Amino acid sequence: MSSPKRSSFTSKLAGLTVGLLIATGTAAAPAMAQDKPTIGIAMPTKSSARWIDDGNNMVKYFQEKGYKTDLQYAEDDIPNQLAQIENMVTKNDKVLVIAAIDGTTLTDVLQKAAEQGVKVIAYDRLIRGSANVDYYATFDNFQVGVLQAAYIEKALGLKDGKGPFNIELFGGSPDDNNAYFFYNGAMSVLQPYIDSGKLKVQSGQVGMDKVSTLRWDGAVAQSRMDNLLSAYYGNKTLDAVLSPYDGISIGIISSLKGVGYGSPSQPMPVVTGQDAEIPSVKSILAGEQRSTVFKDTRELAKVTVGMVDDLLAGRTPQVNDTKTYDNGKKVVPSYLLKPVSVDSTNWKQVLVDGGYYKESQIK
Ligand code: BGC
Repeated sequence: MSSPKRSSFTSKLAGLTVGLLIATGTAAAPAMAQDKPTIGIAMPTKSSARWIDDGNNMVKYFQEKGYKTDLQYAEDDIPNQLAQIENMVTKNDKVLVIAAIDGTTLTDVLQKAAEQGVKVIAYDRLIRGSANVDYYATFDNFQVGVLQAAYIEKALGLKDGKGPFNIELFGGSPDDNNAYFFYNGAMSVLQPYIDSGKLKVQSGQVGMDKVSTLRWDGAVAQSRMDNLLSAYYGNKTLDAVLSPYDGISIGIISSLKGVGYGSPSQPMPVVTGQDAEIPSVKSILAGEQRSTVFKDTRELAKVTVGMVDDLLAGRTPQVNDTKTYDNGKKVVPSYLLKPVSVDSTNWKQVLVDGGYYKESQIK
């Protein structure tokens, strides 16, 4: 009668051994590619080509390193982006890469993320008001504004003492931290000329509180430009417009065309831009928009993927700025890439030879 007992003991022992083997095997095996976690990527909108490129580039590089990705676009709707990020935290994505629509609205969800050990990288746009932002990957945003204004300075011959000229100023979305950096960078070049009277802002509208463009919306900029032209330029010529982003420049230019600018007798003012989006590169070749600022989203994606990979492997990500980006709760360690000014003289070299676009996409 002892045999059933013995056999039950033997089978328990065997089960235990198998269990131990499985446990040991799992612990000792190196993390396989298929074990790598999912990275949540929250992008603001598909209405601008740059963010589509950003998302696609990141997915590609993350997948090359064996990660799974969860890419979401929020169509510039703040509650939508918040819900997407909450969902990523619930699904247990291990790292969140976020280009915020409004950089101040994510505090609660990021607190929840931090409690779960989720790491957060602010992508291109700083997330403000939260200590739970681990790193920031972006471009030198102040320099973007410097490049835009330096283009105006050169095109008008301000350094050679020419003037006075009339200029109007446009800023980006007031809920995007970058907008202030672009504006301040531009004003670091333009303000001395405004002070000396070589540049005149006939509308008197100076300062981000007066010149910002909610959600970077080209239609909003177009109607502001319509109002400025009819109120202040009935019998005056506008010589330059500081525009922070290609989509805004398109709105500005169509307003200018509407009152006759862009003809031999009434040349287009010098209009700047940012992102080197295809319609604006075409506009530059057509002699309408004069310049843009190219930011290589392939490089930004690479830096970001490298940061995530380092974080998950317990390494410290490389940064090159630990002073500039104070988000109100902490100075977020940042990696800044270099923006490049593009106009009709160097577009081919920068955008086509650099492999960003095919010439056939532009011509
Ligand atoms: C980005 C710019 C972009 C703008 C509008 C900013 O945060 O840095 O590259 O032009 O948003 O999308």
